[in-house]
Amino acid sequence: MLMDTHAHLNFKAYEADRAEVIQRCLAKPMAVINVGTQFKTSQEAVELTRQHDNFYAAVGLHPIHVFDESFNPGKYQALVNDKIVAVGEAGFDFWHFKHLKEPYKIILLHGWGGSKEERFFIWLEQELTALGHKVIRFDFPNTDNPNQKKWLQKLEQEAGYINGKTLFVGFSLGGVTALRFLEELDEDVKVGGVYLLGTPTADLGYNELKDFFKTDLNWGKLKTACNSYYIYNSTNDEIVSPDHGQKLARELDSEVTVVEGAWHFNVEKLPQLLDDIKQNIKNLNGILPTIEEVIKRQKEVFEAHIDLALKNNLPLILHGRNGLAERNVYLEMLDILKAKGADRAVFHFFGGDLATAKTLVQAGYFIGTDGPLTFDKKSEELQAIIRDIPLDKVLIETDSPYLAPEPFRGQRNEPVYVEQVAKKIADLKNLTLEEIIEQIWQNAKNLFKLKG
Ligand SMILES: [Zn+2]
Repeated sequence: MLMDTHAHLNFKAYEADRAEVIQRCLAKPMAVINVGTQFKTSQEAVELTRQHDNFYAAVGLHPIHVFDESFNPGKYQALVNDKIVAVGEAGFDFWHFKHLKEPYKIILLHGWGGSKEERFFIWLEQELTALGHKVIRFDFPNTDNPNQKKWLQKLEQEAGYINGKTLFVGFSLGGVTALRFLEELDEDVKVGGVYLLGTPTADLGYNELKDFFKTDLNWGKLKTACNSYYIYNSTNDEIVSPDHGQKLARELDSEVTVVEGAWHFNVEKLPQLLDDIKQNIKNLNGILPTIEEVIKRQKEVFEAHIDLALKNNLPLILHGRNGLAERNVYLEMLDILKAKGADRAVFHFFGGDLATAKTLVQAGYFIGTDGPLTFDKKSEELQAIIRDIPLDKVLIETDSPYLAPEPFRGQRNEPVYVEQVAKKIADLKNLTLEEIIEQIWQNAKNLFKLKG
């Protein structure tokens, strides 16, 4: 039987049409393991097992969430029943936290008709770089006739990795662009601060701005994406009246700082803003963990997962992601597994090199592979790994809703697409699709002790 050994149909991405996605799995037919990443999503994965004979679950706290929840083994133990076939996903993810070693990144966004060469932005860049922070001054295209889609694309391309050490300073329409950008961030991503100067909340009657205000701002999502909003309004802004600032403050649980003097186009310096940024960074430094604290916490939580798995005679679904040049998460996890005598596990969405893959397989562990195996570019090494390692150590997964395979790349993923991964393995191994599906089903039964 076709099997997806790693999906998240328990995630919000399926809120609107989960029943239809499940229906497509039933129609195949196929088996699915839905994997928890926190207590709530673990409970939901367990809930899904009740809806379908061939649905199984894994329960665990994902390493990127070790600061969102303290791992309580007793609570997870209470979820275990005979359709819980693994503990996880658990492991090390240094990539998600690598920014903790990097400087703060402050993104400066100019407004309609403005430019990155405005004296205000140059002043702010000088002040902030002198403090050791990284500054990006944006240059939006077509400023006379702004286009929301193009502005957001440019921001996405050039802003790079967004995280708790990212701050946005938006002047006027640049502020709206920052808010629209935050609305699209993944659920888990939170930024460190947003500073809005003379920022409108409605289109002000200008046709050129219609796009930016086609829908209301999503205040709920904006509050999830950032805890610290700072709002500044001039006493005599001739374009954006002060009530816009008051509305922002009300909706975003913030306050308005009233600035004396002329705006909208000739603000030069704003010492209050600089002080606010400095104070906020001081606060953030007190809240954000150090990279050493991350590693320590992830290790403790990982070991507690291994104990839980051994206690219940269950295998582990492991998540590993490198991010620190000097460390190999896979080999670190291998050492801990060996020390604890945990010999049943799959390295889900393996992203290491061939030598590491061989070491893991020789130690008896499974390699899970996903949609990116089907990509033409940038997956030569992964394809070489799958070609090289024995088929009886391979599992196929989707990691839905992420990592959709070709030809669905870029779309929301779903378990039935796992067949594309199986097809790619058939090519790589010179076997038929049926042979691959059958062998991988046997592998899954073997690791997870599935019945049937
Ligand atoms: Zn996952």
